[in-house]
Amino acid sequence: MVQASKMMWDRAVGDADCCDLIHPWTPGCVSGATTMFWSSFKGSCKFYAVLYVIQLLIRGKKMNKKFLLQQFDSYLKSAAFGCLVGTSFVPFNCFFKRFLFQRFYYHTTVLFPMTLSGVGIYFEPPHRRYLVVSTFFNLVLEYWVRMLEHQGIVKRTPLRETIIFMFGSAYLFYLMRQQKDKNKKMSLLWFFTPPKVNRQPIESTSDKCDKSSLYCPHTGSCSDYIIKGYIQMFGLGCAMTMLRTVVPKLGTPVKAIKSITAKHFTLGLFLGGYMGIYRLVVCILCRQFKRDSARHAIPAGFLAGTAFWFNPNLSVSLASITSILHILCSRLYEHKILPENLPLPELLYALCQGLLFHARVMHPEQCPRYILNLVHTVTSGKVTLVYETFLKMLAIADFNK
Ligand SMILES: [Zn+2]
Ligand SMILES: [Zn+2]
Repeated sequence: MVQASKMMWDRAVGDADCCDLIHPWTPGCVSGATTMFWSSFKGSCKFYAVLYVIQLLIRGKKMNKKFLLQQFDSYLKSAAFGCLVGTSFVPFNCFFKRFLFQRFYYHTTVLFPMTLSGVGIYFEPPHRRYLVVSTFFNLVLEYWVRMLEHQGIVKRTPLRETIIFMFGSAYLFYLMRQQKDKNKKMSLLWFFTPPKVNRQPIESTSDKCDKSSLYCPHTGSCSDYIIKGYIQMFGLGCAMTMLRTVVPKLGTPVKAIKSITAKHFTLGLFLGGYMGIYRLVVCILCRQFKRDSARHAIPAGFLAGTAFWFNPNLSVSLASITSILHILCSRLYEHKILPENLPLPELLYALCQGLLFHARVMHPEQCPRYILNLVHTVTSGKVTLVYETFLKMLAIADFNK
């Protein structure tokens, strides 16, 4: 895949017409936009259907009719959002080139129009909006790290990613435990929310069978609590891996079973270990100091982070930073340091969307895989076609040089 530098871009497409680059499938801007609308409509209906079904499967709880109707309503809004963003690629790029910039500049093509169309985030239902913003912000961090690595400024190793994850996890759990019951509403991009601090161990009314666990933030015995947490998360990790790798091969069951190897358990080992070690350390500290405290989360989160070694992953290690920033930002709102009417998450989303579309076209190699798939599916391959057209134009420009 080609990295488009500013110079290459200017040389290849700077003076091109919009029908050469933005809608190579048709000469007219209006018909270009109409085709893009239908492609995005089909693409986003498909993409969000898969996403919502997976979310329902992972949720695994009882679902009543009211809940399913709510989910369907959310799905329609998300699909409308995807369709709007995908469609905007053509009319916005055509409009700005024709009436504002006269040329296809490196930063005013894709980056600028797609940042503007990011206001489409208002289509997403509010409860999903923060999750979408966090996801996109995390993807931008991933893109930047990959760019820095490409330029030789940083070097990624599993050990470094694990260390970042350990520090991130320690501080994040500390912040989460400091929040008094508020993190439930925050929809953080994280695996689990630690229970709130157990401030009043009341001996007489306690239903704890084990007296020494009186100060712990859980009921029942410590060993049950730790083992249950481990098994739950281990199961979740394995289920997610199976869903992703084995289920598509279910047509050939023998092949599917044979394809299961040790690496299919690494996510389970990470998630299980993460939860297990966290709970173990918190319990030990509560017993030792005879009281629970938000500060216990610091060593617990840090040591639990060692489980990351089983399954190092750049976006997961960065997710701890994203979640920390999410909590800190929400505190700025709480303390009225940021005005309530400042739509920071929506603005941030718009910027991230612009940057990630820019990454898709200009730096596909450093662009997170999720974005490559998302943009390809939501626009039914139209943006991929634009990228290929750019490559052809670049080859012609180089030949004529
Ligand atoms: Zn056009
Ligand atoms: Zn305990």
